[in-house]
Amino acid sequence: MLKPMTALITSGALALGSANTPAVSADAKFGPANPFYAPSTLPFDAPPFDKIKDEDYQPAIEAGMAEELSETQAIADNPVPPTFENTLVAMEKAGRLLQRVRAAFGAVTGANTNPLLQKVRTEEAPKQAAHHDAIYLNAKLFARVAAVYQQRATLKLDGESLRLLEVTYDNFVRSGANLPEADKTELKKLNEEISTLSNRFSTKLLAATKDSAYVTTDKGALAGLSDAQIAAAAHAAESRKQEGYVLPLQNTTQQPELGSVSVRATREALFEKSWNRAERGDANDTRDDIAHLAQLRARRAQLLGYPNHAAWKLGDQMAKTPEAALKFMDALVPGATARAASEAKDIQDVIDAQKGGFALQPWDWDFYSEQVRKAKYDLDESAVKPYFELNNVVENGVFYAASQLYGITFHERKDIPVYQPDVRVFEVSNADSKPLALFYCDYFKRDNKQGGAWMGSFVEQSKLIGTLPVVYNVANFPKPAPGEPALISFTDVTTLFHEFGHALHGMFSDTEYPSLSGTATARDFVEFPSQFNEHWALFPSVFAHYAKHYRTGAPMPADLVAKIKNASRFNQGYKLTELVAAAQLDMQWHTLPASTPLQQPDAFEKQALEKTHLLLSAVPPRYRSSYFSHIWGSGYSAGYYAYLWSEMLDDDAYEWFEEHGGLTRANGERFRAMVLSRGNTEELAKMYAAWRGKDPSVEPMMKYRSLQ
Ligand SMILES: [Zn+2]
Repeated sequence: MLKPMTALITSGALALGSANTPAVSADAKFGPANPFYAPSTLPFDAPPFDKIKDEDYQPAIEAGMAEELSETQAIADNPVPPTFENTLVAMEKAGRLLQRVRAAFGAVTGANTNPLLQKVRTEEAPKQAAHHDAIYLNAKLFARVAAVYQQRATLKLDGESLRLLEVTYDNFVRSGANLPEADKTELKKLNEEISTLSNRFSTKLLAATKDSAYVTTDKGALAGLSDAQIAAAAHAAESRKQEGYVLPLQNTTQQPELGSVSVRATREALFEKSWNRAERGDANDTRDDIAHLAQLRARRAQLLGYPNHAAWKLGDQMAKTPEAALKFMDALVPGATARAASEAKDIQDVIDAQKGGFALQPWDWDFYSEQVRKAKYDLDESAVKPYFELNNVVENGVFYAASQLYGITFHERKDIPVYQPDVRVFEVSNADSKPLALFYCDYFKRDNKQGGAWMGSFVEQSKLIGTLPVVYNVANFPKPAPGEPALISFTDVTTLFHEFGHALHGMFSDTEYPSLSGTATARDFVEFPSQFNEHWALFPSVFAHYAKHYRTGAPMPADLVAKIKNASRFNQGYKLTELVAAAQLDMQWHTLPASTPLQQPDAFEKQALEKTHLLLSAVPPRYRSSYFSHIWGSGYSAGYYAYLWSEMLDDDAYEWFEEHGGLTRANGERFRAMVLSRGNTEELAKMYAAWRGKDPSVEPMMKYRSLQ
């Protein structure tokens, strides 16, 4: 499974508001009849989905923002001198209504949406962004936070409270709250320009990607594609009112059809369409925009007191500095590229054996590696699926592993209202039978559900608020016909373990403050508990407990198990190399200082890859700079490395378990106490090292990727 594709949604509790946003008057429609008006009376404060109607969300969101604004303004206007209690703790308590409604709204718009909900989301998104942005520009509020922060050495705060103070203060400062007025004005202008350019990039890229689809009227050019793929290409042409066949581009450099098209000229043309999609010198060319974006971001970082954009972005991450992230990536390169070179040789051998008479190019890679895969690593999905019946995998695999490690038990509750009849709810209890959490799962694909899989929270754990966690997992597995079993692939099994790892991070949370709770951690840490949990899917005693034939109950034959394990070794050199190359491009762009002149993207990209030993003729980066939407169009600038960083942590952590006897209660308890329950209450690198006994290292990651 491609880890970077896995999404995590957290419900995003906003602990505070601001006075600078224009006040939203509480909507007249909002009153006691609205199910969000008062805290839920259901067990665990679960959302009352039996009472919530689509029309209830918008007035509750607006009233929630208004309430949070007035609560926060009251904190800012408090005539009593600022204290930790009357400022920081008060801010943590603010915004409960908004939290309640936003968590439920986020869940239904993601997993069970409709035109009305979409309309509300479109209308509310900019208002919520303004609401959030304005928090950090409330000078009176920041003055109180800063005053408490200055006294921190004498306050005798416990560790978690001190962390809350530091994180909150840091969030204000990193947003520019400390700047003189003139700089704040420039900052706002820069933020606006960056946002405008970033939107322009996204708009252009969307159009460029659409325009760059491969089009042909010659069916013969598509030889090698399956009938279903050809039908889809014909359908794509029809919906665009074009003759013939259309292969639309997906966002990555490599395209899915490159694995099967046997006509080399078609492969080359399709690859060229993808690689140059946003570099055609027309109105949708993005190069000028990204060069300017890099420059504006560098200037903003300078204004905020950082040497470059990456230094600013990584300040609150586990890696802390671009240097640490760069050093980490450098360590991956030799192993990844050496394996990619040996994979390239295997492929060239196939080309030569077939008397191809050409040297391997990027557009040949997937086509020939698919032949290598079939010869060396083939796994017949239809043979393994009967051993992976969904409910059995969940209860006897995912839940079982968690019970073995952490002593928790699961009991289905049919009395808790759900937003859709396929959703199941489990009450989770600790080993001492005390209630721990509610867990919802919504696994079947629907037309009104976003793609992919994710985790989220309805209620975040907090001792201060008095709440236990209520979390959910969502996936998109095909729903079987009534009465038929849901048989899933091993990739899907891994997804179940992954998302449940996020769920455990939420459910084990044992923190005082809601803003430090559960999965509210840095981006380069948050995928660690989930990816870590994937390891148990193949742990022998867990696997044996769930991988049983759905009809006969027979265990999976050993040769099939070996094939599953072997398949995970396939093409790892290529996969890691293209990821590191993309992550390096991101980091090279975002470590440019403000004094650097405007860059020429193609030259910069070539030089950046050369410098990092990643300029390989047959292995291009997963995204080229000009269509790398993670870093220019969404929030992942200087953050693409985080996927790999989390992978280092999860493999390093699993190695600790292997060294200490694997799946045992003692190991689980220790991990839970020192990591999974701690949320963001400690500095993450220290938290990790305290549990692991040392800093993480890349060797286990290279081992599990079979690159060592
Ligand atoms: Zn995840």
